Amino acid sequence: MSVEKVIIIGSGPAGLTAAIYAARADLNPLVISGPQLGGQPSITNEVENFPGFPEGITGPELVQKIQKQAERFGARVEFDEVTEVGLSVSSFRIKTHSKEHEAKAIIIATGASARKLGVPGEVKLIGRGVSYCATCDGFFFKEKDVVVVGGGDSALEEALFLTRFASSVRIIHRRDQLRAGPTLQGRAERNQKIDDSWNTVVTQVNGEDGVESRTLKNVKTDETSTLPIDGVFIFIGHVPNAQIFEGQLEMDENGHLLTDKLAHTSVPGVFAAGEVADPIFRQSITSAGEGAKAAIEADKYLAELEDRAYPGRK
Ligand SMILES: Cc1cc2nc3c(=O)[nH]c(=O)nc-3n(C[C@H](O)[C@H](O)[C@H](O)COP(=O)(O)OP(=O)(O)OC[C@H]3O[C@@H](n4cnc5c(N)ncnc54)[C@H](O)[C@@H]3O)c2cc1C
Repeated sequence: MSVEKVIIIGSGPAGLTAAIYAARADLNPLVISGPQLGGQPSITNEVENFPGFPEGITGPELVQKIQKQAERFGARVEFDEVTEVGLSVSSFRIKTHSKEHEAKAIIIATGASARKLGVPGEVKLIGRGVSYCATCDGFFFKEKDVVVVGGGDSALEEALFLTRFASSVRIIHRRDQLRAGPTLQGRAERNQKIDDSWNTVVTQVNGEDGVESRTLKNVKTDETSTLPIDGVFIFIGHVPNAQIFEGQLEMDENGHLLTDKLAHTSVPGVFAAGEVADPIFRQSITSAGEGAKAAIEADKYLAELEDRAYPGRK
């Protein structure tokens, strides 16, 4: 079993940025990448809002650069997945598919996954017309026609945001009324670019290199229709990748890890950063920032641990 000062779980912007800071603090961090090396940017075509890249950068390139920067200072990235953790004592146990580790501090940066519709064409066209983030991709849909799937607050917020760019935004909702609050509903009703289809589901997203059309079905009449469209934005939920911490760390009602402003979770020595603990901003730059905070705090925690172990030593 390896014994580490700090283990970072996850290799998205939060985990890899935590690795830069932890490595530069001489903590020799071990990053366990998880199934998606580089996290969500590894499936993002173009990132235009990460500072420092005025021409934009592809998602995979961005995370490779952050990884390289962390490795330059001694961070080690292992391609494996954490399957079990034991957080009950001040030294933590982490089990992966191939090994068992012990760590004095842990930074959790396991991110989150957008809930998928699960219809044909959806996954194939992610980043090519299918999106789960209007803030990220809205800009690419200037003068285009898009649909928004969902009926909650985030669906309406994203639909309203998309009206800054798109020519038309149709909200597709499977019930006969929205779940979103009245203020957002009022704003959507007053917006001339927004239209809606109730009792309707998307059954297929069609296209080869990009979205060309969508097929809808009315759940009351079973009537189907296929019409041209440029983009499909899906907002039916956001699932934090925190299942392995259930029962050991405090979470909100949707499963996000609860942290204080300093990235501390409910267990001293365990920190969390990025989308696993962030139901609101969900951006690469905010996740990276939280990764930096978590690593700085982990460093302080380890120094205090050492002070307690050697009280007389200066
Ligand atoms: C298509 C798309 C386009 C986007 N475009 C933009 C954009 O233009 N600008 C922007 O700012 N944001 C964008 N985003 C959002 C951005 O990618 C996320 O906010 C950001 O990646 C979150 O970073 P994170 O490190 O918290 O989590 P993630 O990027 O989700 O990374 C989570 C990491 O945890 C790992 N992991 C999960 N479970 C385990 C486990 N059990 N053991 C070990 N590791 C585990 C995963 O393998 C992954 O490496 C986009 C997202 C998508 C999907």
